[in-house]
Amino acid sequence: MRYGSTKRVLVTGGAGFLGSHLCERLLAQGHEILCVDNFFTGTRRNIQKLLDHDRFELLRHDVTFPLYVEVDEIYNLACPASPIHYQFDPVQTTKTSVHGAINMLGLAKRLRARIMQASTSEVYGDPEVHPQPESYWGRVNPIGIRSCYDEGKRCAETLFFDYHRQHRVEIKVARIFNTYGPRMHPNDGRVVSNLIVQALKGEDITVYGDGSQTRSFCYVDDLIEGFLKLMNTQPEVTGPVNLGNPGEFSIAELAEIVLDLTGSRSKVVYRPLPADDPRQRRPDISVARTELGWEPQIQLREGLVRTIAYFEEFLREEGTLKLT
Ligand code: NAD
Ligand code: UDP
Ligand code: UDP
Repeated sequence: MRYGSTKRVLVTGGAGFLGSHLCERLLAQGHEILCVDNFFTGTRRNIQKLLDHDRFELLRHDVTFPLYVEVDEIYNLACPASPIHYQFDPVQTTKTSVHGAINMLGLAKRLRARIMQASTSEVYGDPEVHPQPESYWGRVNPIGIRSCYDEGKRCAETLFFDYHRQHRVEIKVARIFNTYGPRMHPNDGRVVSNLIVQALKGEDITVYGDGSQTRSFCYVDDLIEGFLKLMNTQPEVTGPVNLGNPGEFSIAELAEIVLDLTGSRSKVVYRPLPADDPRQRRPDISVARTELGWEPQIQLREGLVRTIAYFEEFLREEGTLKLT
């Protein structure tokens, strides 16, 4: 560490949805931030407010290539997260998770820096155990259209634990469950952004399948709090730790709530369920509660109100808002 409690922190994927919120929180804590992003799904708009800050530096770089910089701590978030984006170039998705992890772990090993991996509930696949504890090994299709993401993230976890065992790198692995909030990509096809944008534009609300599949939605501020708590645990706490909101909703229920909160008159239409779409997902957060003293504070309706406000502003600027 350089001086006092101020650290130089590398955030890969820092111009993305979660990364931009993390950069903002770390800056507010007084740290120096190096944000690395190749702008595949991230945007300058997400970090616009941070660009003029003298403790914020932006580097356009792809983590599948080596990176030689000097930092004290690394958050590895670089990877497209929504099915539309990670299936656009699946080979690059696996490379980003696997080569990206190798490069960032090589960097952490050289610098003796602590490193956190943004893993995912997708490592549990279409789970037979419900809710999912960290001890569950998952049920993942290795050759399906989601595999580039799921298996890439699973391999990244393997690399994290091998660098820890073999090279004593200090690791923290967070398994993130569906997270939503301001700065989600409006066209990335994820359910919360899709439904809100459709409702605000007065378009049909697309529910895939019969809408009975479930997800548990965590508000972004809660999740970032979990990242910070995990990063600051004792060295022996490696994870994996589930971070998510245990409140579970069917997609049909979510559509109802979005319609209610936006006051939209959009109608719900049903579309085919994508291949390998998990039936249910809900985190068991006992480990996060005991080891991090963390649990989400913001319930779904409250988080949705804030997210709707963000998209209203976004669409108003774009000129596509249909509600008054
Ligand atoms: P996002 O797509 O908004 O952010 C990912 C960022 O990584 C983008 O800025 C993108 O440009 C960048 N990126 C992608 N490939 C890169 C590469 N090769 N080199 C450098 N930068 C690259 O997604 P997000 O929701 O902010 O997700 C951040 C991380 O959290 C991802 O690793 C994702 O897998 C994980 N995660 C997110 C969720 C969620 O619900 N949002 C759930 C589970 C896991
Ligand atoms: N690496 C990097 N930055 C560094 C150190 C390493 O990007 O500061 C990359 C480097 O490209 C290497 C990878 O991390 O291929 C893994 O590093 P490690 O030291 O584990 O392996 P090695 O260099 O022995 O292949
Ligand atoms: N979904 C939906 N309508 C949409 C987008 C997604 O019904 O417009 C469904 C999707 O099939 C899945 C759930 O919502 O069952 C969550 O999808 P998302 O892509 O947000 O996250 P993931 O499937 O990766 O958990």
